[in-house]
Parts: sequence; structure tokens; C-alpha cells
Amino acid sequence: MSNPDVIVIGAGISGLTYAWKAARAGRRVLILERRNRIGGCIYSYRFEDGYWFELGAHTIYNSYSELLRIAEETGLADRLVQRGPARAHFGLLKDGAIDWLTPPKILLRLNWFETVLHAPVGFFRSKHNRTLEQHYSGFLGPRNFRRMLSPFFAAVPSQRADAFPAEGPGSLFKKRMRRKEFPRSFGFPGGLQAVCDAIALHPNIEIRTGSTVSNLSPASSGFEVHVDQGESIHAPSVAVAATHLAAASMLRQNYPALSDAIGRLETASLESLGTRIPRGKCSLPECAFIVPVDDIFFSAVSRDPFPDPGWRAFAFHFRPGITQEQKLDRICSLLGVSSTDLDILAGQNLALPAPRINHAAIVADIDRNLENTGLALMGNYFMGLAIEDCMARADSEWQRLHPSMPSGVN
Ligand SMILES: Cc1cc2nc3c(=O)[nH]c(=O)nc-3n(C[C@H](O)[C@H](O)[C@H](O)COP(=O)(O)OP(=O)(O)OC[C@H]3O[C@@H](n4cnc5c(N)ncnc54)[C@H](O)[C@@H]3O)c2cc1C
Repeated sequence: MSNPDVIVIGAGISGLTYAWKAARAGRRVLILERRNRIGGCIYSYRFEDGYWFELGAHTIYNSYSELLRIAEETGLADRLVQRGPARAHFGLLKDGAIDWLTPPKILLRLNWFETVLHAPVGFFRSKHNRTLEQHYSGFLGPRNFRRMLSPFFAAVPSQRADAFPAEGPGSLFKKRMRRKEFPRSFGFPGGLQAVCDAIALHPNIEIRTGSTVSNLSPASSGFEVHVDQGESIHAPSVAVAATHLAAASMLRQNYPALSDAIGRLETASLESLGTRIPRGKCSLPECAFIVPVDDIFFSAVSRDPFPDPGWRAFAFHFRPGITQEQKLDRICSLLGVSSTDLDILAGQNLALPAPRINHAAIVADIDRNLENTGLALMGNYFMGLAIEDCMARADSEWQRLHPSMPSGVN
């Protein structure tokens, strides 16, 4: 595409959402993506026989209103698939044994003596300026937090979440309206990546993969975007939707205060490895995921909520710095299979933001420094890591820069 109206840097769900808004408003959008695939943290690993599993994000809810809006606009909402019974069955791995649970059973595993001691005071204490650990230890007791809650909280953002803020920007849980005409949690044929694919089909959007943006500079009527291969592309409008580390790097030269503000965010690394196994080889009960109390992985997420007669698949989200051999051993020992039973091993390493108690202050600082630049800036380091947090930020950035144009404009 020559002379695009908008350049979007990064083809994760944040950039794709912004591109969708711009394309529907009649803009010609060029997306520059570093990798050879779109989706970023959304990575539905697909096989030639049609089978797929989620190597990255896996669960979406009927409270994800931005996602549902785009699903409706692209026609995907008509092909929505409900998650099966395995969605409400999961394992807590402790001392080498798996305790199979359902949501109500978690409550039975709490030490009620400890809960009764803490709850009367903890229940009324505000979450304001408190970490997840401070809040829930105060509410249910520190041992209940460590044994039960901390492992499940870590499984959500694939990193220890004890030091996350308990409320506000960067927190794990947000109150959102549910759209009850849709199932509580659901998926799409081919996995969550179907949303990214549907957006990419818009005729006003062109995506160039394998294009790493290294720098960004203001120009007389817009911006110059410098791509690693030495190329420079001009556009009147630019949206930065790369990871927080990449955004800080590409803004460093010409927007140093903005880059410094983003650079205050902490980072957590994650190494994911996924595989599929013939159904008959794995005797684990069907489940949504397995979470360990203390292990080399944060969670093993299964495809069982979308059961298949021939295959089962699991994505293990490992702590950084584990050798491939250790990972393979852990996968095989937990699933009770041998390495020859694994049909494939697919991996991806990611660097994620790690929100801390000062997250709201950092976001306010970023937004202050962003104000007069004319740039749009989005990602999973604003409201939170959830897909809906990213899409909502992209929508609010679109509206901030185009106040006269409703986000659903055709
Ligand atoms: C294992 C895992 C499980 C998760 N599970 C869930 C879940 O179940 N539900 C949920 O709601 N959320 C989940 N999340 C969180 C959610 O998936 C992510 O936070 C969200 O998808 C991030 O989207 P993004 O577009 O902001 O960033 P990303 O997906 O990271 O996209 C950024 C894109 O920018 C590109 N890029 C980086 N640098 C450059 C550059 N210099 N030039 C060009 N392109 C560049 C990257 O390659 C990438 O494609 C999960 C995340 C992970 C990692």
C-alpha cells in the first residue's frame, strides 16, 4: 500500500482493533508486524488436518464487549462455539498429586478456621493501594492465599501475580457488563486467532509481516516510520501497538519522556510450549487447565473445553530459563506419556508487562507525555493484560484522536 492514511505498528489484538476502527471509518491502514504471523499473544496453532490449540491466550467471556462488537461486525458472532463441560474442571498440582476441582470445590479446600479469623476484618478493607497478596491474605488468611489463590492468580497472566494491584489499571479482575445472550465463555472455529484473521480481511487493511519498526519521527504533516530494512514510510497518523519493550525502544530518540515513562514498567518473561497427543495415549481426566502450587510452569492449558475425537492438546506456560529437555520431561511426566507420543512441539517466548502497585501512576505518566504528540499508543500495559483491556484501550485511543467519529462508524 502506498501513502497509507494510518500506520499501525504491531499486529496483536491491540493494533488490529485500532486498524479495524480506522478501516471502518474509511482510512487506508498499513499494519507493520515484526513476526511472520499476526495475533501476537493470540496464537492458535493450526494443523493441516484442521485441528488447532491455543499456544497463547485461550479464554474469552461474554463480558468482553469490544471483542463481541467486532465479532458481530465481522460476522464471526454467528460462528461462535460454546465451551464444553471440561471448562469447569481443573487440577491443582501439589506434592506430585493432582487435586481435581470445580469452582465450588475450591471453597471447600480453604482452611475455614483461617478464613473465619481474617474475613470479618478483611472483607471491609478497601482494595485501594493494595496488592493482590495484601488484599486476599487479609481477607482469607496468608496460608489460604499461598496454597490456593496465588497459583490460580499466577495462571491468569502466566507470571506470579501476588504483587499486582488489587484494583484499577493493571489489576486482573474488572467489573464488566455481561452480554447474557452469549454463552459465558466461548470460542471460534480455528481458535481465537479467527478474530485476528477476520479483522485482517477488511479491504482497507494491508498487513506487512516480517517488518520491524526501529524508530518513529515527527514529520511536517504526520510521521516517518523507520523500518529495520532501512525503509522509511510516511503517514499522517500512526498508532503504536507493539509490546511495551518495543514501544519504549522505538520512541526513545524522538519522544524520550514518553519512552522513559513506558520504561518504568516491569517485565515478566514467559516460555510456552504446546503439543498434541492422540486421545488414547493420555489418561488424564478432561479439564480446562492444571495449575501447580510450586513448579517450573505456571499453568498447563488444555483444549478439552473444545473436545476432539482424535486428539488432545496442552500448552505449558513455563517460567523463563528452563532447558528444553527439562520442559519436555515435565510435559511427559505430567501427562503420563512418552516423548514419542507427542505429535509436535510448538513454542513461543514472550515478554509481558508485570503491573505493580504504582501501575496507575505509570499509566497516568505515559498518557500525560502522550497528550500532544498526535500519536495513538495502546497495548496490554494500560488497563490490563486481558484481551478486552487491550481492545478497550485501542477503542479509547481511536476516540481520543477522532472525537467526532463514533467507534462503530461504517
Ligand atoms: C500465555 C498467555 C495466555 C493468555 N491468556 C489470556 C486469556 O485467556 N484471556 C485474555 O483475555 N487474555 C489472555 N492473555 C493476555 C492477552 O492475550 C494479551 O495481553 C494480548 O493479546 C496482548 O495484545 P497486544 O496486541 O497488546 O500485544 P501483543 O499480542 O504482544 O502484540 C504486539 C505485537 O507487536 C509486534 N511487535 C513488537 N515489536 C515490534 C516492532 N518493533 N515492529 C513491528 N511489530 C512489533 C509483536 O510481534 C506482536 O505481534 C494471555 C497472554 C498470554 C501470553
